[in-house]
Amino acid sequence: MNIQNLVIASHNAGKVKEIAALLAPFGFKVQSASELGIIEPEETGVTFAQNAVLKAEHCREACGFAALADDSGLAVSALGGAPGIYSARWAGPDQDFNLAMARIEQELTAKGAKTPQDRSARFICALALALPGEKTRVFEGRVDGSFVWPPRGGAGFGYDPVFQPLGFDETFGQMDQGVKHAMSHRADAFEKLLKEKPWE
Ligand code: IMP
Repeated sequence: MNIQNLVIASHNAGKVKEIAALLAPFGFKVQSASELGIIEPEETGVTFAQNAVLKAEHCREACGFAALADDSGLAVSALGGAPGIYSARWAGPDQDFNLAMARIEQELTAKGAKTPQDRSARFICALALALPGEKTRVFEGRVDGSFVWPPRGGAGFGYDPVFQPLGFDETFGQMDQGVKHAMSHRADAFEKLLKEKPWE
């Protein structure tokens, strides 16, 4: 299917800019859901993929164009994958990630998790592409590492200061952001999407 318009189902200006840059070579007219006045649906899914599909399909139904959505978060193995899809919600209404990071640390300490293996964690990103009249496709990316304490580094956002990817000495909060973006869960999911180019 050849498409001319693609709407990014996000109200986060930073995310829209990053995704638009990745899609620039394909020549679509890229717009964001906020530009089109589309309100975000409630995230009622229980997996990253379900929430990404929900957001992409809601956006496609609202505007009739192809829509791309992502849902992401940090999953800590010893906590059964928490905070997972609740990553943003653990930071509360003020989006205070110091609070969210401290809660993970408390819960890991309560479980006696000490070593990097005990504290293994991964970032996950599900990308959903809803093309008009077609079944929505999902591409999932991840990056493995461990939860470290105390937080290190002031770059990035969210849980970056407590996530140290496997094979690195620095956290995502300390790394050059170009290096982070090239190896992140979002980069992995995008690589899978761009390999298939379902719009062609
Ligand atoms: P959302 O999918 O944009 O709602 O993101 C969910 C939450 O996951 C964000 O608010 C962040 O807290 C967290 N998150 C997702 N990706 C990253 C990342 O690359 N670094 C740090 N935190 C992230």
